[in-house]
Parts: sequence; C-alpha cells; structure tokens
Amino acid sequence: MTALQKFWGFTRGLRFRLALSYVIFFTLLLVLLGRVFHQTLSAAFQSRMESALNDEWSAAKGYLRTGPEGPDWFYDADDPDESFTVTRLQRVYMLADTAGHPTEWSVIYKSIGIDPPALIQSILASGKPEIRVLEDRATGIPYMIRSGLWVDHDGHKYYLAIGRALDYNDKVISDFTRNYVALVPIVIVLSGLLGWFLAGRALSPVNSVAEAAQKITHSSLDMQIPLRHAGDELDRLIEAFNHMMTRLNRSFEQIRQFSTDVSHELRTPLTVARGQLEVALFTAETVDQHREAMAEALEGIDRLSNIVRALLLLSQSETGQLSLQKTDLDLADMARDLVEEHQIPAEAQGVRLTADIPASAIIFADRIQIERMISNLLGNAIKYTHAGGRVALQLASDGAQMRLVIEDTGVGIAPDHLPHIFDRFYRVPSADPEKGLGLGLSFVAWIVKAHGGTVDVESRLNEGTRFTVLLPAGHPTDLAAEIPAPLTEQVH
Ligand code: ADP
Repeated sequence: MTALQKFWGFTRGLRFRLALSYVIFFTLLLVLLGRVFHQTLSAAFQSRMESALNDEWSAAKGYLRTGPEGPDWFYDADDPDESFTVTRLQRVYMLADTAGHPTEWSVIYKSIGIDPPALIQSILASGKPEIRVLEDRATGIPYMIRSGLWVDHDGHKYYLAIGRALDYNDKVISDFTRNYVALVPIVIVLSGLLGWFLAGRALSPVNSVAEAAQKITHSSLDMQIPLRHAGDELDRLIEAFNHMMTRLNRSFEQIRQFSTDVSHELRTPLTVARGQLEVALFTAETVDQHREAMAEALEGIDRLSNIVRALLLLSQSETGQLSLQKTDLDLADMARDLVEEHQIPAEAQGVRLTADIPASAIIFADRIQIERMISNLLGNAIKYTHAGGRVALQLASDGAQMRLVIEDTGVGIAPDHLPHIFDRFYRVPSADPEKGLGLGLSFVAWIVKAHGGTVDVESRLNEGTRFTVLLPAGHPTDLAAEIPAPLTEQVH
C-alpha cells in the first residue's frame, strides 16, 4: 500500500471523520460567536457614545450665549466642575453662522477638518441633528461628531458641532478581536484532539466487534461477541450479530447434518442394489434367484428415487418454483384410496388402520400435494406405532372447512421435540425405527400453509400422537390469489 493510499484510507476512517466534524463544527461556531460578539460590542459602544454625545451637545448649548462679539462660552471659571466640563466640551467643537462660515473651532476640529459650508447649510436647513464619524488625519484617531442647529436667546441661528474621540472604544474592540482570533486556533486544535479522543473511545467497541467477526470462520460459527451491557446501540448491534451467528450456525449445522444424512440415506439403498445386482451377476443360478435379486435391487432403486424426489421437492419449494395446480377434488375419495394403500404396510407392521370418512368432501386443492401430505402423515403414524397399535384417520367437512385427523397409539413425541418436528431435517433422535430425512413434516406444514390451512399436533410420549389438519374447502374465486410461501419461511 502506498503512502497516499494509506493516507486516503486514514481519512476515510470513521474516527478521522468524526474528529473532523468536531473541528468543523467548533470552527463554525467560534466564527459565528466571534461575529455576534463583535457586532454586539460595536453596536453597544456606538449607542452609548451617541447618547453621551447628545447629552454633551445639550450641555454645550447651555454654556453658549451670544455676547457683543458674537457667540461665546459662559461659565463660572472658579467652579472646578464647570470649568472641567467646558474645557472638555471645547476640545472638539466648532461654531458656524447661517451662511456656513466657521466662527469658532478647536485645534482638534481643525485637524479633523472644518465642515464645508454646503454641509453646514443643509444641516441648518433641515434642522435635524447629524452624527458622523471622522478621522483626525494627523493622529489617525477617529472622532464621533454630533452637529445641529443652535438658536440663542435672541433667536440667532448657529451651527454647533462637538465631537468625542472613539479611539478607546476601537481599542477595546480591536483588543477583543485580537485575543479572540488568537484563541480560535487553540480551541480548534483542542477540539480536534478532544474529537479524536472521544471518537476513538466511542469506536473502540466497534473495532473489537470487527476483530471478533474477523476471527469467525465456518468452523467457529458458534463464537459469540461478548456483550458490553452498556444498553447502547452497539450492544444492540452485537446482539443482532450474535443472533445472526446463532441462526447461521444452526443453518450450517443443519446443512452439515443434511449432507451426512443424505449420504447415509443414499448409501444404504445403493449398497443394497449393488449387492443384489452382484448376486444376480455372479452367484444366482436359478431364474427365481435372479428374480429375487433383481426385485431387491429394484426396491433399493425405488428408495433412491424417493429420496431424490424429496430433495427435488425441497429445492423447488425453497426456490419458489413449486406452484400449486388446484382443481376440484374429492378429498373423501382420495383419503379412502390412501388408507387402502397404507393397509399393506400397516398390516406388515401389525398395526390396525381404520378410517372414518364421509361419502364425499369436495375441496379446491392440488391433488399431488394433498396426497403427499396425507401419505406423509399416515406413513409416519404407521412407522412410529408398534405392533398391536392403532392408527385412525378421520375426515369431516362442515362445508367451509375440512378437518382431517390422523391419530395413532404409537411412541409419541416428547414435549422438548414437539415444537421442532415441522422444521426441515428435524428428526427426533433414537425414535427412528427406519431412518427418514426429517423432511416429511416440513413438507406437510408447507403444503397445508400453501392451501391456506393449519396443522396442529398433540402428543404424549409412549401414548400416541394426533395430527389435526384444517383446510378451507375453498372455491376457485376465494383462492385464486393464493401464492404458496417458500418452505424456507417455516425455518426459524
Ligand atoms: P422423518 O422422515 O424422520 O419421519 P418427519 O419430518 O416426517 O421426518 O418427522 C419428523 C420427526 O417427527 C420424526 O423424526 C419423528 O421422530 C417424529 N414424528 C413424526 N410423526 C410421528 C408420529 N406419528 N409419532 C411419533 N413421532 C413422530
């Protein structure tokens, strides 16, 4: 990785970006605050100065009177307060007549610049006081000048302007600005460091989660990231992650188990078929021996094709390719035929198979799938019932709903296993007289759900099991929009 790529990677990091957001935020905030302070301070000084200057202008009017030689200042020179005030007023002032000719002015006012007659006349004509800021060109000090019309006791009009230096105000503002500007980079650097530190602290659990996640391989799927018990978003993320791992682990386990089971399942009939074909080829002498070997090989092949069919069905239902071909069919007829078919294996196992079926029960459903569902339930009931036991099928219809009950007096299912028996590949351990793939009941559940029905199971260990399937009798218009859900939805 080049240095540039490293730097690029570094700047893309969440920690860097969070710290940068901090810095940007603080910079903008400080600039904004600085501007607000600066403006507030300037405005406050300005308005204070204006009101002070207005007061001074009124005071100056009080000390001015027109004597024999024109306007002059009148005050008690022995009164230190008065002489101080008047001296201060006289520092920056000028007087002019109505023609705009200056009659009196202070040295500082001259340095600032005697007001031009045109301005004086326009202020006198308007009668409105005016406030301006002018700069003493010699010293560079700014002055606020307040000028306006003064009428003496005899009714003579004059132009009077007095001023005050603004240098103190400006110094305060510029000192403030300088200090503030000097402080801004320090605050920015500190905020950057703080942001870097805080972001590092907030993100450190994320890094540990990422490290833990990286250690997970297909052989360590049972690994869990320890919770921090902070009750925050990260804990929720870890929890979600751990749940996902548990689910993944379960799926992996199922797939692993499934591969083993499938291999076992395929191996037995394959070995049987192969063995019997070898017998036929090498050792069988009579036609009967040949026939027997062939028949057994064929049985093995039948079992193989059953397994392959189940696997195909599974993959079709998983990918949603299995669509229902619904037609009006007589469930009663179908149940009677299936019971009939299952009499042979039931008898072979010494189990009594009985049926209670009405004359007719029309349902709008997929023939092949409904047959598969009943066969699975009947087959299981017989398979898991010992000799001398009973299996009963009951079908009832109330017009709107079909109720199919398949009950046995077999080995039963322990409460621990009962909630899982409809899961894919789930088999109750040790209860298998003849090993299955654990797919039968998940197909049953899928088929019932795809037909808009429900399936329930009740069971007592060593006493028996009862499956109850409720199916809507249905009608083409009611069920036209029904789409079968993929089998995967049943897996929790
Ligand atoms: P399998 O192919 O193993 O029979 P199923 O999905 O049909 O798979 O059944 C799942 C598990 O449910 C079986 O392993 C079996 O232990 C249990 N089971 C199903 N039906 C019955 C029943 N009628 N009586 C007792 N156990 C049953």
